Amino acid sequence: MPHKEGSRLFNPRPLSYCSVLRRPLLLRHPMACQLGSEVLVLLLLLLMLVLTCRTGAGGLDVNQFLRGEVFEVSHPATTTVRPVGEANGSRISLPRTGEEEWKEEILRLARRPEAVQWVKGIRRRIHENPELAYEEVETGRLIMEELDEMEVAYRFPFAKSGIVATIGTGGAPVVALRADMDALPIQEAVEWKFKSKRPGKMHACGHDAHVAMLLGAAKILKAREHHLKGTVKLLFQPAEEAGNGAKRMIEDGALKDVEAIFAVHVSHEYPTSVIGSKAGPLLAGCGFFKAEIKSTLGSSSNPRHSVDPILAASAAIISLQNIVSREASPLDSQVVTVATVTGRNNLNMVPNSIILGGTFRAFLNASFHKLRQRIEEVIVMQSSVYRCSASVDFFENERFYPPMVNDNKMYEHVKNTAISLLGSKSYRVVHPVMGAEDFSFYSEIVPAAFFYIGIRNETLGSIHTGHSPYFMIDEDALPVGAAVHASIAERYLAEAV
Ligand SMILES: [Zn+2]
Ligand SMILES: [Zn+2]
Repeated sequence: MPHKEGSRLFNPRPLSYCSVLRRPLLLRHPMACQLGSEVLVLLLLLLMLVLTCRTGAGGLDVNQFLRGEVFEVSHPATTTVRPVGEANGSRISLPRTGEEEWKEEILRLARRPEAVQWVKGIRRRIHENPELAYEEVETGRLIMEELDEMEVAYRFPFAKSGIVATIGTGGAPVVALRADMDALPIQEAVEWKFKSKRPGKMHACGHDAHVAMLLGAAKILKAREHHLKGTVKLLFQPAEEAGNGAKRMIEDGALKDVEAIFAVHVSHEYPTSVIGSKAGPLLAGCGFFKAEIKSTLGSSSNPRHSVDPILAASAAIISLQNIVSREASPLDSQVVTVATVTGRNNLNMVPNSIILGGTFRAFLNASFHKLRQRIEEVIVMQSSVYRCSASVDFFENERFYPPMVNDNKMYEHVKNTAISLLGSKSYRVVHPVMGAEDFSFYSEIVPAAFFYIGIRNETLGSIHTGHSPYFMIDEDALPVGAAVHASIAERYLAEAV
């Protein structure tokens, strides 16, 4: 709305500065009113400027000044103004704030040359001796020896070969950090000094790095235990790649009293030490299926005397492809893939059995469970159409991961802590991917956030995706990961109080 010329609202009666300030200060003398408003404004501004300079950049409460109080202003990061009567020591002091102290100290602890060498050494020892799901005996022994060395308490076993360590007050609130420990049945193709010594086994997903970073966080948190305003639980979990290790950790009580949980995974997609995550769905729910379609054995030359399971399997495969394309919202990403079909290797016989199998993924829990239901229906019913019978196994006790959905508040905590510690250039919001993580089991119980730390370095060659025999990491990310882990836990406890 345009201003109205001459209205009282926009052309008010000029107030004298004497009337604004009323009685208390310099301007009580009648002469002051005669000096003219411009001069008085300049004097007042000059006076405030001088006082502002004396008290630092923390700003000045003019009302308090006008009341005649004397101030102490803390560091600008936590600006407060309080009467001197409440303060100890000198009138003007600029104490170091907790805000700066934690960052500097945690980074200093993580970056000490001996700490960097130690955390890399841990990762290399684990990398040389990869162990598959529920066989993490030597890995567990190494973890417990290091925890003993740090005088960190722990309980063992959880989920057969898992360990839960605790640092802090022993009371609430309790926050958890998790690292997975298992390797993959892959022959390492990277030729380097610390190559896997176990044929056919390799840490090709970076879980060796996860353990090293969590032990690094343990060391930092132990050194700062007096700062912890609660308890940090460190979960060393077996069997992420297969065996639903997270689910068994929960069943064994690893989440007892825990009110939030966090975990990191290395990623070849982001430059070394860059942290990335996103709010909401991050990783898909992941399931596998294996169906057997049965019929009667018959001669290929006389098909009318047999029931053909290949025809049933073919119809089932075509119909499985229709589930996502015809039944799912295009805005709700889902995948159904038939990855294997096998029968009798005989060109002259109609087989009596066909095995087909594959995987399915979705970001929403409801969509994930709907896919499972429809895959079973389609295979069983299409088999019935062709006079065959079918059964479907979904391996729900071994590899059946719900979607990983980051809690919005926990995600914000990760983002804010990472940016605070490393700067905004070291953080990025990432896209969701159809990969899966059994960390999602924890996220179904307590608020959780999962994030990545970059290990990509073209110079080193750490450019290969996880589960590749050429997978390798830039170990310079390890101390940073330890510092981020420790900071997330410590700041969570500090802010929860
Ligand atoms: Zn993996
Ligand atoms: Zn992994």
